[in-house]
Amino acid sequence: PLPIVAVIGRPNVGKSTLVNRLAGGRDAIVHDQPGVTRDRTYRNAFWGDRDFQVVDTGGLVFDDETEFLPFIREQALSALSEARAAVFVVDGQAGLTDGDREIANWLRQHPVPVVLAVNKCESPTEGLALAAEFWELGLGEPYPVSGIHGNGTGELLDLLVTHL
Ligand code: GDP
Ligand code: MG
Repeated sequence: PLPIVAVIGRPNVGKSTLVNRLAGGRDAIVHDQPGVTRDRTYRNAFWGDRDFQVVDTGGLVFDDETEFLPFIREQALSALSEARAAVFVVDGQAGLTDGDREIANWLRQHPVPVVLAVNKCESPTEGLALAAEFWELGLGEPYPVSGIHGNGTGELLDLLVTHL
């Protein structure tokens, strides 16, 4: 089986957009195995000579941050249990939030390598400044990316495949 990369983060940070970008617009596969969460989708992706699958998590969206955390936690932990690596997506325009800190705490308790993607950084120079704040999460270098425009995703993938 292909190594699995779990894409994790608060609602609305751009996980699905980034997954579409990483998977190059190829069709979603929804696993029909028992026990696999219905709204988790698996997409085939590759970078260089590495093939892998990207799993989008957190299909549920809530208005209030305090309500969604238990659901994200459940989805994230179940996705992490089968993942070789994780991409933790945060929103560079929104800045660091308590929800990000909480997710970072779950991730630190898991023996899975994490790549930190600071999304919505359309401008590379501005992106570096926006990303700097996320060093505080203690998950290594924050990578500024734009899921919509694609910038930074090459560097992110270069790092990601070293963990597969
Ligand atoms: P998810 O809930 O984490 O899966 O987030 P989505 O991928 O559904 O995106 C949430 C919102 O953020 C949508 O309005 C997207 O258009 C927007 N968005 C996603 N990626 C980017 C990005 O790279 N830059 C900007 N400016 N907006 C983005
Ligand atoms: Mg989504």
